[in-house]
Amino acid sequence: MIKNSFTVLAIAAAALLPTFWPNPYYIHLMVVIGIYAILLLGLDIVVGYVGEVSLGHAALFGIGSYTAGVLHFQLAVPFLLAVPASILVTGLFGALLALPALRVNGPYLAMVTLAFGTIIQILINEMDFLTNGPLGISVRKPIWLGHQVTGADYYYIVLTALVLTLFVVQRILKSHLGRAFEALHDSPIASDCMGVSVYGYKVYAFVLSAAIAGLAGGLYTYSEEYISPNTYNFELTILFLLAVIMGGRKTRTGPILGAIIVVMLPNVLSDIELFRRISTGIALITVVYSAYAAATRVRTIKQLALPLVATISLAASGYIMSDISAQRLTIFGAMILFVVYYLPNGIMGFLRSILIKLKPQWIHRHIAIQEHGDMQHVWSVPDHPATAGGHLLEARHIVMQFGGLKALSEVNLQIVKGSVHGLIGPNGSGKSTTMNVLTGIYKPTSGEIEFNGKLITGATPSSIAGEGIARTFQNVQLFGEMTAIENVLVGLHHTYRHSLLDVVFQTPRCRREKHAAEVRAASLLQFVGLADLANEEARNLPYGKQRLLEIARALALNPSLLLLDEPAAGLTAPDIKELIAMIAKIKSHGITVILIEHHMDVVMSICDTVTVLDFGQKIAEGTPANVQSDEKVIEAYLGGSANVHGK
Ligand code: ADP
Ligand code: MG
Repeated sequence: MIKNSFTVLAIAAAALLPTFWPNPYYIHLMVVIGIYAILLLGLDIVVGYVGEVSLGHAALFGIGSYTAGVLHFQLAVPFLLAVPASILVTGLFGALLALPALRVNGPYLAMVTLAFGTIIQILINEMDFLTNGPLGISVRKPIWLGHQVTGADYYYIVLTALVLTLFVVQRILKSHLGRAFEALHDSPIASDCMGVSVYGYKVYAFVLSAAIAGLAGGLYTYSEEYISPNTYNFELTILFLLAVIMGGRKTRTGPILGAIIVVMLPNVLSDIELFRRISTGIALITVVYSAYAAATRVRTIKQLALPLVATISLAASGYIMSDISAQRLTIFGAMILFVVYYLPNGIMGFLRSILIKLKPQWIHRHIAIQEHGDMQHVWSVPDHPATAGGHLLEARHIVMQFGGLKALSEVNLQIVKGSVHGLIGPNGSGKSTTMNVLTGIYKPTSGEIEFNGKLITGATPSSIAGEGIARTFQNVQLFGEMTAIENVLVGLHHTYRHSLLDVVFQTPRCRREKHAAEVRAASLLQFVGLADLANEEARNLPYGKQRLLEIARALALNPSLLLLDEPAAGLTAPDIKELIAMIAKIKSHGITVILIEHHMDVVMSICDTVTVLDFGQKIAEGTPANVQSDEKVIEAYLGGSANVHGK
């Protein structure tokens, strides 16, 4: 509510601005701010949500500009067709860049996008016949119904585009798509194993971001009325990145603030009077904040000293010097360092952290939980009819080699449908490796895996998850910054069948699926006893609860095979009892379970069959009782660290 009224007020204020400030120069600056803000909203999807650095966004912006420019120049295509064409063409180029580039990440991705930027700039320069080369292209603002669109009119066009972009981006990021972006950033491995393909959604995010850059580019051509290749250079790409980081990632206000800063700063720095007023204002704010922070002891004097000295000397320098334009770059650089060092989450992130301390209700993510009385009834997972005797999964002659180490050698596994199959062995015997091979995280050196009559050897983790194999991890892999219920909702990603357009227009289908998923997520949380903690961030949960949350998330995938890697680790004795009951319940739904466990009481009480690994080899297999009395097994355990009868 408060957020919405703030948005409406801000839009109204922006709409009234030219009336109160009809200076064409400033109106043009505001148009540029609006255009940059559009681009930055898109860039934040890649930088803030997916967490990848793109150095290609100035080039994408250029492609958008030149699409509109060339269409106008060569074919006299009107504005209302040219700008949508900019979106499409840039989206296509985005895909062209993303498909190979996102196979790599980190510094490599930065290099690839940088190379893309350079190539695009050269191409624009060299392809005279299309782009008019270094001479650039001139365009005129459109004439609509006999009326020449003026600079002030164009301000409203850009404002409309900005508001639309804001709403579309907001809806996407609040949907299951945005959740997928956040999830893959938080834990790529878990994301893949929940059927949310990291690569696929990275490409998705990048293409969206590129399309939005295309819109900004198309609008820019008509605002400047002249474009040339030099504009879309490396400096602009850096400026865009800085704007997102300074403004604040993962917010909608951050990119807008970032755009205002990078566009206004050169002007502020060339007008000494304005600079004095603003720098004094910033110094005053810092003094007041420092006084408050020191009094309430949220920060030490030492932490506050440098920002205080820096802002005060910045303000003082304004009064000492008569002309600061020569020092522009120095001041700009210092400000960037300051923000990056002191406000790692940007200006909006900083303001948000203060707000969170005040704890207004609306700042927290909250999904209402539908309470269900009867646990029997709540868990709305369709049963998997267990036809006795058949094998759900067969692994044949699996070898997994890491360099010189054979972590698995010639392992055969046959998992009976509907059974609980224990996998035990001393530390380092290859249990987790087996699980990683079965879920596609490792491709086995040789051997094959058949699941449900289908070969899945070499398939990607997300497609294996799609086939119905879900898992938990020995070292918990939750999406830490998401709430418990959001974690489960990522597992339910496969139930969302609606498209991007459904999300943008919030169609009944989209709302129906969202509601159904939330009800199901709540029931799963209740099943593992976490209903009370549904809206708690996963990283804040105690370790034992995190393990239970992983089980709920895995069940959300509606698996026919569930792989649990040491689920009892970190659980208290009563919790372990609960866990045993839970696994029995899961089995009663017809779900087959492979259980890696060190707690022998758990293994002995619920496993139908137990396989024992030692040094990557299968040394025994059979009923729990048989295995427990097996000579080789006893020897392996006595030689290892654990005791087969104990623990
Ligand atoms: P555990 O039975 O305790 O789960 P693991 O399957 O984790 O054992 O490990 C089996 C062996 O494989 C260990 O020696 C481990 O160091 C090795 N290993 C596991 N994953 C890798 C990897 N990604 N690279 C190299 N060695 C690995
Ligand atoms: Mg392990």
